[in-house]
Amino acid sequence: MVVEDVSGPGRARAGHVIVRPEAVGICGSDFHLFSGDVGALSGARDFYPRVQGHEVSAIVEDPGDSAAGGDAAGHGTLREGARVAIWPLLPCGRCYPCRQDRPNVCPNFRLVGVHLDGGLQERLEVPAATVFDVGDLDPDSTCFVEPASVAVHALNRARLEPGEQVVVFGAGPIGLATLTAAVHRGARVLSVDPVASRRDLAKRLGAEAAAKPQELTENARDWTGGEGPPLVVETSGEAGVLPQAMDLVAPAGRVVVVGMSSATAPVRPGAFPEKEIDVIGSSCATAADFAEAIGLVAANRAALAALFSHHFNLARAAEAFEFAMSRPPDAVKIVVTVN
Ligand SMILES: [Zn+2]
Ligand SMILES: [Zn+2]
Repeated sequence: MVVEDVSGPGRARAGHVIVRPEAVGICGSDFHLFSGDVGALSGARDFYPRVQGHEVSAIVEDPGDSAAGGDAAGHGTLREGARVAIWPLLPCGRCYPCRQDRPNVCPNFRLVGVHLDGGLQERLEVPAATVFDVGDLDPDSTCFVEPASVAVHALNRARLEPGEQVVVFGAGPIGLATLTAAVHRGARVLSVDPVASRRDLAKRLGAEAAAKPQELTENARDWTGGEGPPLVVETSGEAGVLPQAMDLVAPAGRVVVVGMSSATAPVRPGAFPEKEIDVIGSSCATAADFAEAIGLVAANRAALAALFSHHFNLARAAEAFEFAMSRPPDAVKIVVTVN
């Protein structure tokens, strides 16, 4: 990764908006592109050179024609100076998942910061439909809307009901966002993570209980009166969690897999008919999930502030990536500040 001068966009093209990024979250999925592991990303496409950054807080510089007519997603007219979050997904609009209104798994989609240049630059042109006004949210909270939308989507896929007991594997940013979203909807959460400081953070964000992976089975049984939880959400990316979650979940329950992994783990197919469980995948978020995530982050911004553990300025972006990829135990969300 290098920092250098490039020629920026001029005026916004039709249907586009020019924004000035101000905070960009670094995410585990960024590491694949950074380290050349593009097999984990969708499609055999041209990835390099690429400006990364898909968790973006920005200020509208040139609202283009969206200032007059609103935009395709119908979320209103953008004004110059507004703070916005970017829903980083550009679906094809024609394939089966797009026709099912599930553009987040469009096999042809392009992601800002992955297939298109992203937020780690001083000016960025994006389609108006990706730009969401966040009102008075601060920059750190705003760049957390994207990971929060992943959590919102996972719980929508999970058909979470208020009062339900949920086990969330992983207390990294996505796990903590999932826990926050679940508690926000009135659910009760047991958070699972090997790192003590992350379990503490989970409790501060409203987890009723927290456990190390090796103590989990006993803790979860006690916590649910022996029944097992009706819902388990896996965000850790550890392949071995899926068989464990299938064992743990109550019969008739649901397991949602959010964590990305290219590793394999053995699963006993008989567990499906025996327990009649639903194992559900969840990826990215729809525009509706993204809009919902803005409200979630706004309602929980004081508690979520504890997540933004480290800040680096744009000149030190490569250092920020190296630091993030060394997985220091005290780091939660690492943010690059721009402009
Ligand atoms: Zn991300
Ligand atoms: Zn599509």
